[in-house]
Amino acid sequence: MDEFSFIGSIQQPHYRQSSLIKGIGDDAAVFRPQYQDLVTAKDMFVENVHFAKHTMHPYHIGYKALAANLSDLAAMGAKPLFYLVGISISDRWSSSEINEIFRGMKKIADTYKIDLIGGDTVSGKELVISITVIGDTDKARYRSLAKEGDVIFVTGTLGDSQAGLHILNNRGIFRDEDYYMTRHQMPSPRVEFSQGLQKISRLALNDISDGIASEANEIAEASKVSIMIYEDRLPVHPTFIQFDSELQNKWKLFGGEDFELLGAVPKHDWKNVQQVASQLKVPITKIGYVSSRNSVGQVFLQRKNEKLERLEKKGYNHLSR
Ligand code: ADP
Ligand code: MG
Repeated sequence: MDEFSFIGSIQQPHYRQSSLIKGIGDDAAVFRPQYQDLVTAKDMFVENVHFAKHTMHPYHIGYKALAANLSDLAAMGAKPLFYLVGISISDRWSSSEINEIFRGMKKIADTYKIDLIGGDTVSGKELVISITVIGDTDKARYRSLAKEGDVIFVTGTLGDSQAGLHILNNRGIFRDEDYYMTRHQMPSPRVEFSQGLQKISRLALNDISDGIASEANEIAEASKVSIMIYEDRLPVHPTFIQFDSELQNKWKLFGGEDFELLGAVPKHDWKNVQQVASQLKVPITKIGYVSSRNSVGQVFLQRKNEKLERLEKKGYNHLSR
């Protein structure tokens, strides 16, 4: 397949976003936003760094790459509208595998009715996917908005994605295999939940891409506050206890790629957040609070055995070798 018939094959027959004026087919796309702030994010995925062929089907690679980008928009409180895809294709990938990648992206794009409006296609030594998403919002949810006394909460359960990867790499007998593998291969960004919180006046959000330890530290640093988290409140899936306890500890604190949301909200709004979560059937757990300690920018973990530890900002960091 040549580049032009490839572009023809990924082009949508019609677009869903009314603000779109020109989609794929010219030198650039054109859209006319309403009176809202535009929010944009990009995430790149490199073969054998972010994914491997033996644990992810091409369909999953496309699905997860767009899901990760949508999670960033959710963490900003933005409604997703458009995406653009840059792809470098190596000759080790067949055209049907590339089509599967785009089919995976289309699947999650259809869920949120977002449109593919452009991109770039090149050949290279490795498969690289670089997605740009565009959304809009009335109220961006910055990491810097946490204040003393806030409730710290998290959606869903932690560590599932790493448990899924473990199962994929160590075929054996595990309970809820499909659940964990799906959490790794096809994560669900918390888009509706973040949109449901629009009425909350002050809210700090961060999505869990590198593990809760890392994300909590980012909120603490940006907001210049100290955060206290209770180990025994960290939500995990009921069968998570089947894994080695050291692995459980590592995955739930430093695992990453769960694409859940970590938030800080004033105490008086916590009930409202819980209400939105229960309406949308999103599990939500209060895991701690913004403390009045003067160790600004730090996160502390109250262990089950009463010991208080500093929770360091470690997790997956590409530049730390
Ligand atoms: P140009 O040479 O003007 O940069 P291209 O020939 O690269 O344009 O692309 C033609 C059209 O196809 C453009 O609208 C571009 O955005 C779109 N396009 C190219 N590659 C992709 C891709 N991987 N995903 C989505 N759209 C793409
Ligand atoms: Mg051109």
